Amino acid sequence: MTFERFPLDARVRAGIQSAGYSEPTPIQQQAIPPILAGRDLLGIAQTGTGKTAAFMLPILQRLLANPGRGVRALILAPTRELAEQIHQATRIFGKRTGVRSVAIYGGVSKVRQVEGLRRGADVVVACPGRLLDLAGERSLDLSRVEVLVLDEADRMCDMGFLPDIRRILKLVPQRRQTLFFAATMPDEIRTLADSILHNPATVQIGVIAPPKTVSHALYPVSSGLKKQLLLAVLERRAAGRALIFTRTKHRARSLARDLDKQGYRVQQLQGNMTQNRRQDAIDGFRGNKYDILVATDVASRGIDVAGIAHVINYDMPDTADAYTHRVGRTGRAEQTGEALTLAQPEDEPIVRQVERVLGEPLQRLRLADFNYEGFNPESRPKGDGNGSGKPRPRPSNGNGRRQNVPRARRNGARRARPRR
Ligand code: AMP
Repeated sequence: MTFERFPLDARVRAGIQSAGYSEPTPIQQQAIPPILAGRDLLGIAQTGTGKTAAFMLPILQRLLANPGRGVRALILAPTRELAEQIHQATRIFGKRTGVRSVAIYGGVSKVRQVEGLRRGADVVVACPGRLLDLAGERSLDLSRVEVLVLDEADRMCDMGFLPDIRRILKLVPQRRQTLFFAATMPDEIRTLADSILHNPATVQIGVIAPPKTVSHALYPVSSGLKKQLLLAVLERRAAGRALIFTRTKHRARSLARDLDKQGYRVQQLQGNMTQNRRQDAIDGFRGNKYDILVATDVASRGIDVAGIAHVINYDMPDTADAYTHRVGRTGRAEQTGEALTLAQPEDEPIVRQVERVLGEPLQRLRLADFNYEGFNPESRPKGDGNGSGKPRPRPSNGNGRRQNVPRARRNGARRARPRR
């Protein structure tokens, strides 16, 4: 099907063309009609499904169909990166519409944001904290909001924004359309959704499993050997661009430095960096200045960079959900990608959770010719659900390396090689 099926203004169609979309993604197919009809929506979808256009195209259509004044659409997002990304997408989709969007988030000066609001904004894309700040200073009037979007509502709650969201709900009109998106629906999120949505249409895409376009591999390793194993994996397995996740800001910084010393074109992305430096890191990665970005979970939320061949979990995430979010950075919009995880024996409980979500065991791999110094990557810790207590057979061509050539290399992608 094409976008022609939706009753959209020619100026909105022009925006779809500017974005280069020819066919709506499943969430767009299912969510656009009820949103255009004015209904509330509960969208259970992970990142990378195309949900931004799913809510923004009908919002633009509404703004054009009934001209009005003031901030008429408010989009709340958990991180600055995601807010900025939605704002940029709005500018592309809205290029021919005259609709003005302003992004509001902390970590940068308020002045330009307040000026943007003064000039007149139809759409505000915001993180909750700074939004409340500006509303408190009366730089922002939310009394004309017709559509409220909560994007990645589950993440916002994880990050402690629930009280802020409740405050914001009091500042927007009761009579409005509300669009609520979350990748997961734990009880707290379900309760929040139930309390603010009226007879919503529900659209669920791909439950919580990572995109099917991503393949998953696990490299068991002891903590002392992790760095060497990563270097070996990068050298031999990780073709194309790689996004590497660490558990802490400090580990992101130190790993990025080590990789830099090894000659990789690498940048870090973590919460202690200023907003400008973070944006530079993302832009540099997007613009191929860097082949590797070493990031923490929070800082990386909403990174939308095409063609990330590999997501590498240098540290195992804390939850299966976080795993899904991380690996969702690759394999986006139907491209293929690979998730590589360096797992220590103590990560086994999370590994099992991830396997449950995936519905299949993760492939356990031993890197050939790597000196494991007595560590046996094929032995699974006791009580791992394998049942037999025996090592799990690994797919092998005899030399311990995977038989299939990495997809990215098959596609002729560049290898993230050290500069010499
Ligand atoms: P989102 O889930 O909104 O962050 O979108 C994920 C990625 O898919 C972004 O890079 C979008 O530009 C891209 N995308 C969204 N909708 C489409 C579409 N209909 N056709 C092609 N790419 C799309």
